[in-house]
Amino acid sequence: KGLLEDKVCIITGGAGPRGIGKATAKLFHEHGATVVIADLDETKSQEAAREIADERTMGVVCDVTDKASCEAAAKKVMEQYGRIDVLINNAGITQPLKTLEITPENYEQVTDVSLRGMLYMSQAVLPYMVEQKGGSIANTSSVSAQRGGGIFGGPHYSAAKAGMLGLSKAMAREFGVHNIRVNSVTPGLIQTDITGGKLTDEMKTQILTGIPLNRLGDAADVARGFLFLASELSSYTTGAALDINGGMHMY
Ligand code: NAD
Repeated sequence: KGLLEDKVCIITGGAGPRGIGKATAKLFHEHGATVVIADLDETKSQEAAREIADERTMGVVCDVTDKASCEAAAKKVMEQYGRIDVLINNAGITQPLKTLEITPENYEQVTDVSLRGMLYMSQAVLPYMVEQKGGSIANTSSVSAQRGGGIFGGPHYSAAKAGMLGLSKAMAREFGVHNIRVNSVTPGLIQTDITGGKLTDEMKTQILTGIPLNRLGDAADVARGFLFLASELSSYTTGAALDINGGMHMY
């Protein structure tokens, strides 16, 4: 029997072809879950869902920076499946800028998707989880939050991802009484399309020298961490951050 049998799981930012969200949706589905891919483009969300399977999958449009859009997505899932057990706050964008280069627009773009989006999407599902007397929320933060960047994203990205860890712990404290757990993963460098081709081979070689496991991460590596946090395997874990970084940051 799968670890997520009969669970309804929403994964934001799940449409990226090589993304962490899609790999997570796939693994969750293999473990018996019904998975909802929530991403910016409706067609791409639906295509990503269909690629995983024809049954127990759904793609919805959701801009996590827009509160009404998050509420509409959660409502659609409730109408279709009648419950929401797991939310993976995974939508995110990054920009390789230095402190003095960050414009107000850059700051808003990056913090809005990761941090504001995490709040809005959590607000959209929490009332249902409270009603159901349980749930699991897990968030994609980053090693950038812990070590102050130095991988790809700029300082505004580090700030957004560090903000997610604070929000995660505060929600864990508030909703523990409702049997709702809130945790995060802090991935190192994972080979997805988020870097938009701007990660050069030279940068990769340089980064590899600092990774004890001597390889970059795959989306599937992060998906396995999310499986732990979403399922009862982590029944007594809340407010935690799970490092999935090949050992590049230890403390
Ligand atoms: P990805 O580009 O494949 O996935 C990001 C997804 O977020 C995309 O599908 C995109 O359409 C979606 N998205 C962007 N803005 C959105 C919005 N407003 N509303 C809804 N969806 C939106 O890249 P990925 O690397 O799989 O990124 C997933 C998460 O992992 C991000 O939060 C990223 O910051 C985080 N992360 C990535 C790495 C890495 O090295 N790849 C490391 C640490 C953390």
